[in-house]
Amino acid sequence: MSLYRDEGVVLRTQKLGEADRIITLLTRRTGKVRGVAKGVRRTKSRFGARLEPFSHVDLQLHGGRSLDVITQVETLHPYGGAIVADYPRYTAGTAMLETADRLTVGEKEPALRQFLLLVGGLRTLAEGGHEARLVLDAFFLRSLAVAGYAPALAECARCGAEAARAFAIVAGGVVCGACRPPGAAVPAAETIALMIALLRGDWATADASEPRHRTECSGLVAAYLQWHLEHGIRSLRHVEREWPGAGEARAPGSFPWSGRPREAGPGAAGGRPGDAEPAPDPHVFRT
Ligand SMILES: [Zn+2]
Repeated sequence: MSLYRDEGVVLRTQKLGEADRIITLLTRRTGKVRGVAKGVRRTKSRFGARLEPFSHVDLQLHGGRSLDVITQVETLHPYGGAIVADYPRYTAGTAMLETADRLTVGEKEPALRQFLLLVGGLRTLAEGGHEARLVLDAFFLRSLAVAGYAPALAECARCGAEAARAFAIVAGGVVCGACRPPGAAVPAAETIALMIALLRGDWATADASEPRHRTECSGLVAAYLQWHLEHGIRSLRHVEREWPGAGEARAPGSFPWSGRPREAGPGAAGGRPGDAEPAPDPHVFRT
């Protein structure tokens, strides 16, 4: 691979040497890419601030043996401005970037649906038309669905019965009375309805929901996502071990749901620490 173009969202950046940065992007065609932006930390850099987290950019890269080198960057949508200026949007957006990063484990493995979800989510978040917490939960649910972990919400996850009321993460969603494992949460019916609306992109229903159901929804979705991130992606276990205080409360700036109980009991729906606002997903957000 020599020279190639793609568009992508900047997920994170890290310093390299005196003036360079390694930029991690989720791209439309190539999947996750790490590229070196040379001289980007100098004030006269031609890249300027284009390679900041949340930015949706068009770029040209030169394939290298280990890291690619970013040779051109054009801004498509500078979502960062509107997101960083508002704290709930910022925490939601940060959680979206981190989730997209963790759900796309391999580099240069195309992940078009996750890319579209992320772009749609950031756009919806930046536009501010829906509460950030709802946008984030919609993004989480859609991302889980793309990864193959969509929770069962209409019928019992274990037997398919229709009369399902409890929610059990280990079972994969709502469960009926017969299948209900000990410790399953019993959310309000409106909360399950909100989760269904967010998954489908039914914003009229989601926007009309009550705060207590949003809070309960956020708690369940965060716990469900966290469980799948830790149990569904093997390589993440190694990452977790290297984090100080893994399994306990983590440093500020880590996942907004870090430190949550792993299993969602009834008390787990009380909102995550640093309560974020929700993020979007492309299709959900367009409807
Ligand atoms: Zn059942």
